[in-house]
Amino acid sequence: MASVSQTNNFMAFITTTAAVVVVAFTTYLAFNYGKGWVFKKEVSESLLKVPRVLSDLNQTKTLKALLADTSQDAADESPFGLRLQSASPEETIADAGLSGQTEIPQPLKRALNQALSPAKILNQYIIDPTELEKPTSETPVINAITSESGLSRQLLKETLQLAEGTGKTATVPDTFWMGVHSARAFVVINPTEMVTSNKRLVLVVDHTMFLSKLDYMSKFGFIAIVGFALLSFTLATFLMWGRFKDRIKASKEIEFLAHHDALTGLPNRAVFSAHLNEALRVSQVKAGNMAVILCDVDKFKDINDTHGHGIGDIYLQIVAERLKSSFEGHLVARLSGDEFAIILTTISDIGKVTLLAGRMMDLAKEPCVIEGRSIPISISMGIARASDAHWRTSSILHCADLALYASKHAGRATFSWYTPEMDAEAKKRKEIEKGLKAAIAQDQFSVLYQPQYSLHDNTLRGFEALIRWEHPTKGYISPEVFIPVAEDSGQIEAIGDWVLQHACKEAANWENRNLRIAINVSAAQFIPGVTEQKIAQALKNSRLEPHRLEIEITESLLISNTDMVIETLNNISAMGVSIAMDDFGTGYSSLSYLSRFPFDKIKIDRSFVKELGDDPRTDAVVASIVGLGRSLGVPIVAEGVETEEQIILLQAAGCDIVQGYLLGRPGTSKNVENIKLVFEMPSMDPTTIPTHLQLGEQQRAQEAQADEDFEEADELENENIRTSA
Ligand code: C2E
Ligand code: CA
Ligand code: CA
Repeated sequence: MASVSQTNNFMAFITTTAAVVVVAFTTYLAFNYGKGWVFKKEVSESLLKVPRVLSDLNQTKTLKALLADTSQDAADESPFGLRLQSASPEETIADAGLSGQTEIPQPLKRALNQALSPAKILNQYIIDPTELEKPTSETPVINAITSESGLSRQLLKETLQLAEGTGKTATVPDTFWMGVHSARAFVVINPTEMVTSNKRLVLVVDHTMFLSKLDYMSKFGFIAIVGFALLSFTLATFLMWGRFKDRIKASKEIEFLAHHDALTGLPNRAVFSAHLNEALRVSQVKAGNMAVILCDVDKFKDINDTHGHGIGDIYLQIVAERLKSSFEGHLVARLSGDEFAIILTTISDIGKVTLLAGRMMDLAKEPCVIEGRSIPISISMGIARASDAHWRTSSILHCADLALYASKHAGRATFSWYTPEMDAEAKKRKEIEKGLKAAIAQDQFSVLYQPQYSLHDNTLRGFEALIRWEHPTKGYISPEVFIPVAEDSGQIEAIGDWVLQHACKEAANWENRNLRIAINVSAAQFIPGVTEQKIAQALKNSRLEPHRLEIEITESLLISNTDMVIETLNNISAMGVSIAMDDFGTGYSSLSYLSRFPFDKIKIDRSFVKELGDDPRTDAVVASIVGLGRSLGVPIVAEGVETEEQIILLQAAGCDIVQGYLLGRPGTSKNVENIKLVFEMPSMDPTTIPTHLQLGEQQRAQEAQADEDFEEADELENENIRTSA
C-alpha cells in the first residue's frame, strides 16, 4: 500500500514538474515568436512611413535623382560617383571611397534615419539587382554589403525581390531558430514611382535598439508569466503538500491503529501473531528456543464494575506500562480486554524468564493510585517455552494458556510454567464440563446433609446441604472438582437452581420442623435481582418456612457489583432467610465486607480448624474471628471439626456452632431423622487448653450472657417457625 502511494506521489511530482517546464518553454517560444511578430510589424510600419517622411522633408526628389536610371555611360556622371560596374571590383570599391558605400546627401540620410527610427542606418548602397546574378568575384559591392551586414546574399536577393514585386520599400529581418531575430537587416528603398529604375538603394540597418527594447519587454513578460506560473505552482504544491502531509499523517495513524491497540499503544493481536510465527521460525532455524507469556489481569471485571470504565481504562494503561518496563526489549502485546502477551526471544532460558516474571510480579505490587483511589494490581501469568522443532504457534499459545489457568486456580497473582500434566488436567476439565451437561437431565446429582450443633447447649441446629455427583462411568466426583468447572463453564446456575429446589423440598418434608437447612450459593450463580426471585420460588414450591433457610455466600460475591448485591441480600434477608458468610479467612477477609452487610453467621473455614491447637498463629486467627463475631453480635460456625480437641478448643474460644465429621458426616435426607439431637461434649483437662484460646474472666461473663441471648433468640426463632407453620 505504502509503495503504491509513493509511486503515485512520485508520478504526480514528475507530471507537475514536466507541466511547469512545458509552460516555461511554451511561454518562452510564444514570447520569442510574439517578439518577432511585433518586430516585423513595427519594421514594416516604419517602412510605410518612409515615402511620407521623404516627401514631407522634400527628399523624394533627392532620392529619385540618386536612383535615376543611369546608363553605363552615365555612371560616371552620377552625382555620387558610384561606379557599379568596373573592370575590377577592387578598383570600384577604391573609387567608391567607402568600400562600396554610397554617399548620400545628408538631408536625405537624416530623413531616412528619421523614417526608419529607431533602427539605425549603418550604411547605404546603390546597387543594380542584376549584379546579384553574377559570381561573387565580380560583385565587390554586393560582397561589401553582405560582409558588413553579416547577412547572406540570398537574403539580399529576397529583400530586393520583395521590393520589386510590390514596388514598396521592403525589408527582411532574418529569423533564426525559435524566433530569434538578427539585429541587422536590409532595407530596400523603392518608392513606386521608381519602379522603372534599374538602381536600388539598399540600406544596412541595425535594429539592436528596438530589438533590445522588445527583448527587454519580452523578457519581462516571460519572467512575469513564468514567475506567475511558478508562484501558482509553488502555491499549489504548498497546498497539495499540506493535504499530502495530512494524508500521510492520517495514513500513518491508520497504519498505527491497524497494528496497535488504541488504549495502551501496545502492538495488537495481529502483530503478536506475526511476531510469534517469526520467532518460532527463527528459533527453529537456529535450533534455539523462545518463550511466550500470557498475562491476565485478575478480576478486571470487578475493577470496572466497582470503579467505572474510565478508571478501568487507566488501570489497563498502568498495567501495560509496568509490563513494558518489566519486559523491556521484548514484544509486549495486548490481545484483548485484560489479556496481554509477551514474546521472549533473546533470553528464553527458564531461570532468566522466571526472574523476569518474578520482577513483574514485584512491580505489580507497587501502589497504583488512580484519581485518589488506591487499586491493587493483580495479574496472573502462564509461561510456555518452545524448546524444539515440534512447537507450533497454536501449541505454544495453548500451553501458555493452560499455565495461566493453573495460576488462576492457584489463587491468582502468580505465574506458572506449563507442565505436561496440565494437558491431562485440561482434558479432565473438558470431560467434566461435557458430563455436567447431561447430569441434571439424567438425575445424576443428589444432596447430602451434614449436621450442625450448637456449642451452647450441644443440640442439633440444622444441616448444610452438600451436592453429590455420581457419574455413570467415572463414579463419585467431588464438588471441589466439578463446582469450579461448573462456575467457569456457566453451568453453575442450573446446578445451583436444582440444589435450591431439591434441598428446600427435602427439608420441608423433615418431621423436625426446628431443623434449619443451609445451602451454598456460589458467586458465579448469584444474579442480583434474580437470585431473590429464585429463592422465593423455591420457598413457595417447597412450602419451607423462610426462617429455616440459610444461604451461604463467600466474600468474592461482595467484591463485584456491591450495591446491587447488597440490595439483593437485603431482599433475601427481608423474606426471613438468614445469610451466612462462608469460608471466612480464606479470601480477602476484609472487614469491610463484614460491615457492608449484617450477616447472620460467619463460618470459619475448615482449613483453620484443621490446624487448631497445632499452630499458635492459626489459633490466633480463630480467636480473633470469634472475637470479631462476638463484637458484631454474629454467631460463629466452625466447620471441618474432626477431633475432640478441636471441639474443646473451639468452645473455649467462644465459638457458637460446630460442623464436622466428628459430629456427623454428610448423609441422605432419610438419615436426617435418625441423627442424634444432642451430642456429648468431650471432656478435657482445662489446664491443657492453650491460654490464648481461653476466654478471660470478662469474656467468660460475656460468654454466659451470649449463651443466654443465643438461647433466647433461638427460642424466639423456633416460635416464629411454629407460628408461621
Ligand atoms: P464448603 O461450603 O466449605 O463445604 C464444606 C465442605 O467440607 C464439604 O465438602 C464437606 O463435606 C466438607 N467437610 C465437612 N466436615 C468435614 C470434616 O470434618 N473434615 C473434612 N476434611 N471435610 C469436611 P464437599 O461436600 O466436598 O464440598 C466441597 C465444596 O463444594 C463446598 O465447600 C462448597 O464450596 C462446594 N459445594 C458443595 N455443595 C455445593 C452446592 O450445592 N452448591 C455450591 N455452589 N457449592 C457447593
Ligand atoms: Ca458451605
Ligand atoms: Ca469451607
